[in-house]
Amino acid sequence: MNRHIVVRFAPSPNGLLHLGHAYAAMMAHDFARERGGQFLLRIEDIDSARSRPQFVEAILADLQWLGLEWDGDVIFQSDRLASYAEAVERLKDMNLLYRCFCTRTSMRQEQEAGSQAEGPDGPIYAGTCRHLDPEIASARAETEPHSWRLDVTKAAAMTGPLEWLDERHGTRVTREGALGDVVIVPKDTAVAYHLAVTLDDARDGITHVVRGDDLFASTDIHRLLQALLDLPTPIYYHHPLLLDESGTKLAKSRDSASLSVLRTAGHNGHELVDRLRTGNFPVGISLLAS
Ligand code: GLU
Repeated sequence: MNRHIVVRFAPSPNGLLHLGHAYAAMMAHDFARERGGQFLLRIEDIDSARSRPQFVEAILADLQWLGLEWDGDVIFQSDRLASYAEAVERLKDMNLLYRCFCTRTSMRQEQEAGSQAEGPDGPIYAGTCRHLDPEIASARAETEPHSWRLDVTKAAAMTGPLEWLDERHGTRVTREGALGDVVIVPKDTAVAYHLAVTLDDARDGITHVVRGDDLFASTDIHRLLQALLDLPTPIYYHHPLLLDESGTKLAKSRDSASLSVLRTAGHNGHELVDRLRTGNFPVGISLLAS
């Protein structure tokens, strides 16, 4: 085994996996195995409101059914909350986080008023709370729910220009503005995806992050967080996404055919992976060219 290559599959247990996840898991698994490396499974269950134990069980059963074996114990983000809290404190000490009191409604209103630009993950936060007086903000925090956002402009000024390498797309120079001031601590959970994933990829010794093109823009934020927190930068490989017959990305929320339905109906998971591997996709499924 080549201990210098470590890859992971990192699903969130907030729904059933679909064909797009099977493709992503296969890409990460094969990337590791073809290079004699390790393949880890990390369950990203930090969102306690949406994560469910039955989805964790289904993920494990789906991967076994697909024949995509992982190395070592399954890693759970919910076991690591203390390390995320420590990093949040560090970012606060660096004066890079600010409290945000905006609600879904107030942000929708801003969007309707045209003050939010559109980003790859939806409207970009307009920065309404960025310049709140810290004393006023801390008084409001006594009674008002709030999240903590990263001041990406300030953070980027601190780090200077940053680069990262994608084996498929080439070298990138970060454009931290692409996603705006992302949430680091949501209102109702301990930590948001961007910080948890960045810390864990470093902690798990991930050398190559293999994941879908939908997370491409997020990598600029992850690269920024790596620079701020003195973490190593893995190499990235963002693979194309699967589309359904209407040309739409497969998504949990739209109830795209789940793997567990195919599994319990007696389909052969190994054969399915082989079809995905060779590009012989099930009827109606295609790859988004990018
Ligand atoms: N947990 C994330 C998801 O299920 C993926 C994390 C990643 O691969 O960076 O969308």
